[in-house]
Amino acid sequence: MHGSAPAHVAVVGAGMVGLSTAWFLQEHGIGVTVVDRTGPAAGASWGNAGLLTPAFTMPLPEPGVLRYGVRAFLDRSSPVSVPLPGDRRLWRFLGAFASRCTPGRWRRAMAVFNEVNRVSLDAYDRLVDGGVAAPVKKAEPFLAACTGEAGRRHLLAEFERAAATGARLSYDLVDGDELRSLVPILSAEARSGVRVHGQRFVDPPEFVAALAAAVTARGGEVRSGFEVARVHDRGAPGVVLTTREGDGIEADAAVLANGAWLNALARPFGVRRLVQPGRGYSFSVRPEPMPTRPVYLPEQRISCNPLGDRFRVTGMMEFRAADAAPDPRRVRTVVESARPMFTGVDWGARREEWVGSRPCTADGLPLVGASNSPRVRIAGGHGMWGVVLGPLTGRLLAESLAGGETPALLRHFDPLR
Ligand SMILES: Cc1cc2nc3c(=O)[nH]c(=O)nc-3n(C[C@H](O)[C@H](O)[C@H](O)COP(=O)(O)OP(=O)(O)OC[C@H]3O[C@@H](n4cnc5c(N)ncnc54)[C@H](O)[C@@H]3O)c2cc1C
Repeated sequence: MHGSAPAHVAVVGAGMVGLSTAWFLQEHGIGVTVVDRTGPAAGASWGNAGLLTPAFTMPLPEPGVLRYGVRAFLDRSSPVSVPLPGDRRLWRFLGAFASRCTPGRWRRAMAVFNEVNRVSLDAYDRLVDGGVAAPVKKAEPFLAACTGEAGRRHLLAEFERAAATGARLSYDLVDGDELRSLVPILSAEARSGVRVHGQRFVDPPEFVAALAAAVTARGGEVRSGFEVARVHDRGAPGVVLTTREGDGIEADAAVLANGAWLNALARPFGVRRLVQPGRGYSFSVRPEPMPTRPVYLPEQRISCNPLGDRFRVTGMMEFRAADAAPDPRRVRTVVESARPMFTGVDWGARREEWVGSRPCTADGLPLVGASNSPRVRIAGGHGMWGVVLGPLTGRLLAESLAGGETPALLRHFDPLR
């Protein structure tokens, strides 16, 4: 790297995180090449729920999640799927994860999320004001629909725990009829709910495509079909990213933003934290009438989002290898969990069935910042929340690369922790 700021940065991974980082680097006048083994939004950034919901953006390790994990062994319809013993790396991850599922650890991690949740949507405003041509819609209000009082009490208890740590939440309660007036396809099973204010949503494939187009229009290169096998740190002259076939890209610095595949490339640069694929499934249906706002079903852990002419349904947390084949049983689990909550949906006419990997860390915090090389930065491990936190991550990382000064928020996300 020459001087304090690199002139040209290569970003590995054209997902929400990598492309946001590239866009914000361009804001500082830094040239970018984004490479992806497939292309933009080939990973988790495609089929996710697209919810920009700071009210729900919380650390994954919490005491309640452990109960789900235990249930997963006993109940095939559980929204969490844990494989049988055998995968030592996974069990190491789950052990570390379980040790973080204490109320005290959750409160400390939640305090960090409170800091980011206050500013995460501002980074979206920056992208849109700067010309990223895709809508960021207000979910006014965002709805959580429950089958009854018990489910709602559970969600409200979560909100109260978050508020006790300083989370800013604005919500009120609604009954089944009000829920149906806002989302007419909710069935009579939806008996109580919560209206949450100040939340937004995007169409993920549309937004990522617009982001890639904006990066290109501003002079960056987005190169598909380039799978980085290794990042060579050459010292002062910079880095070279090479494929297995021997193709190479030179740059002054590299940002590793390759989602659930992060570990293999980042390990040589001192990153020891495991990034475990937490696979989720989604598909789309065409209900009559088409909802105009997202709905979250907290008891089933299912999020639904209207994307123009289709309604995307997402769910499951399956701990398997990122590149393993999709398991059709998981889609059936999502269908059977969602079905009673809606009317007017032809569940047999599903389209766009998809599996993708949330890049999960055991402590629930992303890995964003410097590695043990001044020329290699890390941007990953956002788990459940890489869409809402992607632009903020890009802004912070670009500031640290361009200015030398590390933004205070990044102190929580040290990739070498
Ligand atoms: C079902 C589901 C629902 C979700 N809902 C939400 C939500 O509502 N809101 C939210 O904020 N988050 C949500 N998430 C999480 C979110 O999708 C992820 O956190 C986020 O997309 C991660 O983005 P990323 O850019 O880090 O990784 P990815 O989008 O996975 O991008 C990584 C990219 O790196 C590429 N790559 C990998 N290895 C290499 C290599 N060696 N060389 C070159 N390229 C490589 C891949 O092809 C991929 O395109 C959800 C996830 C799932 C699965």
